[in-house]
Amino acid sequence: MLTIKIKQKADLIKSGKLKAKDNLIYYLKKIEEKNKDLNIFLSFNENCLKEAEDIDKKISMGEDVGKLAGICVAVKSNICVKGLETNCASLVLKDWIAPYDATVIEKLKKENAIILGMVNMDEFACGASGETSAFGPTKNPKNKELIPGGSSSGSAAAVSADFCDFSLGSDTGGSIRNPASHCGIFGLKPTYGSVSRYGLIDMCMSFDQIGPLTKNLEDNELIFNIIKGKDEKDCTTKDYEEKKLDTKKIKIGLVDVEKFAKKEIKELIEKKVKESVEKNSGWTIKKIELPLEISLETYYLIVYVEFFSATRKFEGRRFGKRIEEFCGEEVLRRILGGKEITKEEYEGKYYRNALRAKDFIKKQFEEIFKDVDVIVLPTVPRTAHRIGEKISVEDMYFYDVFTTLANISGIPAISVPLGKIGGKEVGMQILAPHFCENWIFEFGKRINLLK
Ligand code: GLN
Repeated sequence: MLTIKIKQKADLIKSGKLKAKDNLIYYLKKIEEKNKDLNIFLSFNENCLKEAEDIDKKISMGEDVGKLAGICVAVKSNICVKGLETNCASLVLKDWIAPYDATVIEKLKKENAIILGMVNMDEFACGASGETSAFGPTKNPKNKELIPGGSSSGSAAAVSADFCDFSLGSDTGGSIRNPASHCGIFGLKPTYGSVSRYGLIDMCMSFDQIGPLTKNLEDNELIFNIIKGKDEKDCTTKDYEEKKLDTKKIKIGLVDVEKFAKKEIKELIEKKVKESVEKNSGWTIKKIELPLEISLETYYLIVYVEFFSATRKFEGRRFGKRIEEFCGEEVLRRILGGKEITKEEYEGKYYRNALRAKDFIKKQFEEIFKDVDVIVLPTVPRTAHRIGEKISVEDMYFYDVFTTLANISGIPAISVPLGKIGGKEVGMQILAPHFCENWIFEFGKRINLLK
């Protein structure tokens, strides 16, 4: 199979040189061979073969097809796809078939993409390793002993295992970027409000964003540009004009992560940034600090409260089963924690404090972006642990120390593969100001990324 970019593959399909059906069968064969072991797909779109044949037929009759004609996509199990089981990898929603398409799915279908099926994840997107799924952990295709990261574990693993052309995930505090980094692929969390959340089952609605996971940067840009934009069904979304970046004079903010990241990860990032500045004479580096000390407290307080509120609809009558009776340990921890801190006698003081910290973090970024165009830091502070290895709740939450700030402030952030340490994949994050995803792509294209 050709490892070509999505745009080129779609052009081949449109010209009839590659059949949509053959592209699909290539993936289905691989999935059949390896999915049992890797535990990536939870369910499949039974109509996919017919959909591929219909696309080929349209093309042979000279009819117009979309930008993603015959391109195969895997979808995280918390994004509604009409007729497919959107179970959030939970027994609570097991057998729940979505009655409608999320806006992002509508957009992909309009461009004639083919949905292969629904993939594994941490239960209700709560987790950083993929191990909280009620249907067992997904294995990391790059090293099957290791976690693939989470919560979009199946989405990242599906791309890394070459089970699809790209996938969709959701990111509340790092869930696209963290598994992208462990699986050696590209994962973007867009600006809050640039991609519709309609049809995404909420984890923490003021942070959640849907985004693409891809094999290269160009694919990521292509998919992002297809799924973004104002949606009447999500009032936080808007259309916007892209701001231009002077690519000859990019100012890079390099974050001081001394206290938080493994030394080798820090060094790998510094080397990459130095190299890029040596190659681009007009570029500059500025060392910066981020409020990393308060990232996790702020994030988890808000998540516990909003997740508790979001799960009140799973009371066992309207959807699936009563959540407290059927969920796993991590989901229950957040429900009980959220219930506690929202008790009437506290008068909302914890949530209010966290919102104050959120404002502070936002302002910090505004200040920093007066001096730099993009910010660079590791995606996660350590390399992946082994599946099943006992790590504490604190250590599991610590995976999110570098990713949560982008969600708290609403800015876009991507994880790109950097290389390996001790045989394990390592990712680097690139952050940009609100609605400046194009800066991330422009910068990324000029720093020679691994593919
Ligand atoms: N690991 C983080 C958490 O458990 C992020 C999850 C996410 O982004 N959905 O909350």
